[in-house]
Amino acid sequence: MNFVRAVKLVLTLNCAQSARLVSDGYDRKLSRSERIALRAHLLVCTACRKLRRQLELVHLAAQADSAPGGRLSPQQRARIAERIEGSQSGGPRSD
Ligand SMILES: [Zn+2]
Repeated sequence: MNFVRAVKLVLTLNCAQSARLVSDGYDRKLSRSERIALRAHLLVCTACRKLRRQLELVHLAAQADSAPGGRLSPQQRARIAERIEGSQSGGPRSD
């Protein structure tokens, strides 16, 4: 990706694209410009920071639940659900 395209990505990344990059970050290594754009967006967007925290919790829960002998207890499930619900106050912006 050339410099102009990288700068454009940083300046134009919207919440939907940010959410996609947060999710993609669990499946693949993001490019340098994607990481920079995402970091810049997360600095200014509270909704996407909350979404990222929620996805982190879901990712951690999925890892713990799928580990050998690593089933989550009902208390752990309740704590995770509580934290996800507690971090929900408005979703990501659509712009
Ligand atoms: Zn956002």
